Amino acid sequence: MIAEQLTRRFQDKRLRIEFSDGQTADVLVLVVSECDKHEDCRGITYDLISTNWRDRVKQGSAYWADLKDIKNFEVIGGSVE
Ligand SMILES: [Zn+2]
Repeated sequence: MIAEQLTRRFQDKRLRIEFSDGQTADVLVLVVSECDKHEDCRGITYDLISTNWRDRVKQGSAYWADLKDIKNFEVIGGSVE
């Protein structure tokens, strides 16, 4: 489950994220919001570096994604302890 993998240690890292709606985006993770009680509280705030949805999503700052909408991710930059 992504919520158990995408934890705060990925803050300030660059990730390539595959969303369940088909978007793939390279992002800089700003904040990982964790919550034990509510699924809707779990998510990431990120700056968008690039996306395969260039026509639909404007590049810019401070997007939010629910963790439940993230299908997969990999680290593309920064060091993870
Ligand atoms: Zn909560």
